[in-house]
Amino acid sequence: MRLSRTIEGELNRLFVFELEDRFAVEAVHYRGDTLCVSTQVGCHVRCDFCASGRRGLIRNLTAREILLQYELVRSEVPVKRIAMAGIGEPLANWRNVKEAFDEFKRLGLKVSFYTTGFPLKNLKELIHLPHNGVSVSVHALDKNKRKSLMPYSGDPDLLVSFLREELPLLTKRKKKKLSLAYLLIKGVNDSREELTRLADLARELEVGVTLLYYNNVSHYSRLSPQEYEEAFLFLRSLGVKVTLSTRFRKDRIGGCGTLTVGKPADIDREEVMA
Ligand code: SF4
Repeated sequence: MRLSRTIEGELNRLFVFELEDRFAVEAVHYRGDTLCVSTQVGCHVRCDFCASGRRGLIRNLTAREILLQYELVRSEVPVKRIAMAGIGEPLANWRNVKEAFDEFKRLGLKVSFYTTGFPLKNLKELIHLPHNGVSVSVHALDKNKRKSLMPYSGDPDLLVSFLREELPLLTKRKKKKLSLAYLLIKGVNDSREELTRLADLARELEVGVTLLYYNNVSHYSRLSPQEYEEAFLFLRSLGVKVTLSTRFRKDRIGGCGTLTVGKPADIDREEVMA
C-alpha cells in the first residue's frame, strides 16, 4: 500500500492510497488534527446519497491497511484524532476495525465512529469500548424511507429497539458520547413531522443529534443555509441538543459522502461533485 496522491481542498486535505491489488481508498485530514480513515473498499450499504457506496462492497480493508492510512500521512499532517467515518461501514468489518482501534488507542489517539448500526451485535461491542464518540446514522425512522435512502442497512425498528434496551445500561458519561446522525435532504426527510419523531427519540434516549448537511453527490437537493438553520432551531426548540455539520464536512474535497473508490487514476473529484 502506498500514498499515491494528495488533493488540497479549501479546508481539507485528501489522501488517495493505492492498495496492493491496485484498488484505491481515501482518507481526509480535517479540522487541523483529525484523520478520517476508510475501513472498506466500497460499501455494501449503498446509501443513495453517498459516492462511497456506488460500486457496492469490493472488499474489507485489513487492520494494517486501516492503520497505514495514518502511518503514511502522520509525518505530513498533525493527527490527534481518528474518525472511522470514511469509506465503508465499520461494523461490517468489525474484527479488523477493532484491531486497528486497539492499536490507535495504544498510540494515544482519540477514535470516533460513524455507523449505520448493523450488525447490532457489533454495535453492542462498540458502544462499550473506550471510544471518543459514536454517531449512529438514522437519516429516516420510517422503514420504507430508510430503505430507499440506505438500501442495505438494517431495519430501523430493530435499531431503535436495540438503542432503547442498551443505552440505559450505559453510564451518563458514555451516553454523552453517543449521538444520532441525521442527514437532511430537501423534500425527502426534512418535514416537521419527521423531525419531531427524531426529536422524540433523541429525548427518550437522552442523546444528541448530529444534523448533517448534504453535499451534492447524487440526485438529491440540499437545504438552503436558512432552511438548514431553521431545522436546527426547530429541533432545539423541542429540547434536543443539536450539533451542526462543520464547514470541514461541507468541503467539496473530503466532505461527507464524497469519498470514492476506484483505481488511483480513475478518481475524479469534479465528477463526484457534479
Ligand atoms: S454513507 Fe457510509 S454506510 Fe452509507 S454508503 Fe456511504 S460509506 Fe457506506
